[in-house]
This record gives sequence, C-alpha cells and structure tokens, in this order.
Amino acid sequence: MTEELDPFKISQKQLYEACKISGCVSDVYNALNEPERFVEVKLLMKMDDGSLKTFKGFRSQYNSARGPMKGGIRWHPDESASLVKALSAWMTWKTACVDIPLGGAKGGIICDPRTMSNRELETLARSYIRQLADFIGPNIDVPAPDVYTNPQIMAWMMDEYEKIMRKHAPSVITGKPLPLGGSAGRLIATAKGGAFCIREAAKEIGLNLNGAKVVIQGFGNAGSWASKILTNDYNCKIIGISDSKGGIYNKNGIDPTKVLVQKKETSSVLGLKDAQEISNKELLELECDILIPAALENVITRKNAQNINCKIIAELANGPTTPEADEILFKNDVFVIPDFLCNAGGVTVSYFEMVQGYYQYFWTEGEVLTALDRVMTNAYRFVVDKAKEYNTYNRMGAYIISLNRVIEAMRLRGWL
Ligand code: NAD
Repeated sequence: MTEELDPFKISQKQLYEACKISGCVSDVYNALNEPERFVEVKLLMKMDDGSLKTFKGFRSQYNSARGPMKGGIRWHPDESASLVKALSAWMTWKTACVDIPLGGAKGGIICDPRTMSNRELETLARSYIRQLADFIGPNIDVPAPDVYTNPQIMAWMMDEYEKIMRKHAPSVITGKPLPLGGSAGRLIATAKGGAFCIREAAKEIGLNLNGAKVVIQGFGNAGSWASKILTNDYNCKIIGISDSKGGIYNKNGIDPTKVLVQKKETSSVLGLKDAQEISNKELLELECDILIPAALENVITRKNAQNINCKIIAELANGPTTPEADEILFKNDVFVIPDFLCNAGGVTVSYFEMVQGYYQYFWTEGEVLTALDRVMTNAYRFVVDKAKEYNTYNRMGAYIISLNRVIEAMRLRGWL
C-alpha cells in the first residue's frame, strides 16, 4: 500500500488515532476533523514588467473554542488548500499543547516570493489583507510569519488592515518589526523554544549536550537560529546543514556564523570552505545525536525512517514526519519531540506580543525568554508524562493533552 502523504489526510489520521486512544466517541472526531471556516481568495496583481498575474490565497480557521485563532501565513510555490488546512489543525493542537488561550488557523499564498521585487511583495501582502479583512482581527484570527514571509510583510499587512478599519490594531498580526509593536525575542522564539525542549529531552535520555552532534535541515528563521543557540548556549557541534539547494557536512563541526554570511552573500549554504557537499537525503541519514528538520513537511517517511541515525529528533518544521515513520522511530527508540510542542515557541511569543500590544507595554528580551522557558518546559513535561502513561510515542502524548483541552473548551461552550 502506498504511504499517505497528503498533509490534511495525515492530520486527520493523527486526530483519529488520538481520539481512539483517548476513548473519544466518533461525534468528537467528526466535530474536529475539518476547519470551522476555509476561505479561498483570488489576488489580482500588476507585476513590475506590466503583466497581470493572479495568485491564489487561503485562510483556514480550524477551531476557535479556546480563543482567537492564530497561525502563520506561508508563501510558497507548493502551497495548497490541503497543506493550509493541515497546518491550521496543527496550530489548534499547538496552542492547546502549550496552554495559551488561542485557537488555530493558517494562511498561505501560492507564489514564489524569491522571484518577486519588494514592490510586488508589498502589493501582494496588501491585496491578501483586503480580501481577508472581514475574517481576521485581534479578537478573531491573528496571522503571523511562516515560510518565506517576514516582519516587513507583517508590517505591510498590519498597515493595510488598520487603513481599512480606520484605527490602530497592532494585535491583528504578530511577528511585526520591533518599532511597530513587535516583541523582543520573537525572531529567535521558535528556535529558543525548541532548544528548551532539546535541553529537557537530553536530560531525559542522558545525553550530554556539550559536544553533541547536530544536523539541521533548513536554514531559514527556525534552522539558522537553532544552529546559533545550540552552539552558543549548549556548546553543541553542528555537523550538517542544508537548505533548498542542498547540504553541507563536516564531522569536526561547522561554524553557523560562517554559514549565515555565506547564505547572505550567495542565497545558499553550498560552497562553504572546509565542508563537503551532500544531498538533503544523505543529510537526514547522517549519524548524529540530534536531528532537526526545520524546512518542510513529509521529509521523514516510511522510506527513510529506518535509516535515521540519531537519538533525538527535534521537529522545528511542521509535519516533517509521517504516521508510518512515527511507528518505525518509536520502535527504534528515537526520541521525537513532536512539531506542535517543539516549534511552539514561535506562537507562544506571538501570544506574548498580542498581550503586550493590548497593554502597549513592552517586556525586555530577558522577561520574554524566561516566560517562554516556563511555558515550554511545562508543556514538555506534560507531553512526555502523558506519552509514558499511555505507552505511546510523544506525538500521541501531545495529541491526547491538546485534544482534551480543546474538547473541554467546546463542552463548556455547549458545542459538544
Ligand atoms: P524560512 O522561510 O525562514 O526558511 C525555510 C528554509 O527551508 C530555507 O532555508 C529554505 O532554503 C529551506 N528549504 C526549503 N525547501 C527545502 C528542502 N526541500 N530541503 C531543505 N531545505 C529546504 O521558514 P521558517 O520560518 O524557518 O520555517 C521552517 C519550518 O518551521 C516550517 O515548517 C515552518 O512552518 C516551521 N515553523 C516556523 C516558525 C517560525 O516562527 N518561523 C514557527 C513554527 C514553525
């Protein structure tokens, strides 16, 4: 039988399994297996060369029982309705897993921002918000950056929303630049939250992080900050890094700062002196202590799970591991820190950004990171203990916790 790789079907399969393990009736699964609302928009745009182009955009609002919905906006050529729905489901479980008072959503546009000018990016950002302004808002649904979107794009989006509403509304969006009400620590939050989980997991399995060998797939916001934090805070040794163009490897260690310079100059990690070039496939199978998928979904599947040669997988990416791969990794004693726990640092600091925006009172980076550590460490403990209680893998532990929290909110509201 061929392996299911459709992201939304995978998310539904995971939910079904979690419902089964936690003894939920089928009504609960049916109440939770589709987004509350899915909006598809057509974006018309004049390009710099005078041609007229249309782009397809999406917003999936999965569940609002625990609070305003929250989720990033991804701009990618492979964006799809199925992926956006899956990511919005995972956002719902993520906010519940770290117990912040938010629901889950996600957005996206099918486009390749790497080939677009700044003017084109701004026009696209504003056009997306014009189409969706009626569906988002600080108390409804709050977007944020994701793959190939950034604080500048969030600033344009916030500005467009405020123009439409004719009032300031900084908490309509998070991941904003600092001078526009962004939060200290937001840029590093996803990687920092993942690093807190890695610290706890290392204690759990008796791994010394000093000199621990780390491999990172994806060198964008999440992956590049992870490489710096793990090197600077824990003295880990980064032995492999990749991006969309390929990977580099050096068993004696790679200096992440040099890779950042290289990537800035050439838009690729390839070509670094003293490192051997390898494919993304080879990179994932390198012998190491910690493997960090920090790019896209479905990279660890039935095909390569058996060859994964690490002690911990820290999923900074969303959906990098398929359900079949999960079973294989569990049997092989690989300790997986599941995506919606491991990368929840981003949404947690986004939540802090919303709180600071409501009060117009801003915290220091130290205050943000101390609060983040508390949230992540608590969530980690809950997940791992729940997985042990049910003798299952960590992802199911996380699902059981999140599912119960969402169900409780829905019951209290009288939805179930
Ligand atoms: P980004 O756009 O900053 O970086 C993405 C990176 O992935 C780039 O280096 C790109 O070259 C690389 N990449 C793309 N295709 C690849 C491939 N086939 N093989 C290897 N590398 C590839 O995005 P990001 O914000 O770092 O997000 C990365 C992942 O982390 C995504 O799954 C995202 O949903 C997840 N995530 C990010 C945040 C956040 O705050 N940035 C929060 C939670 C989850």
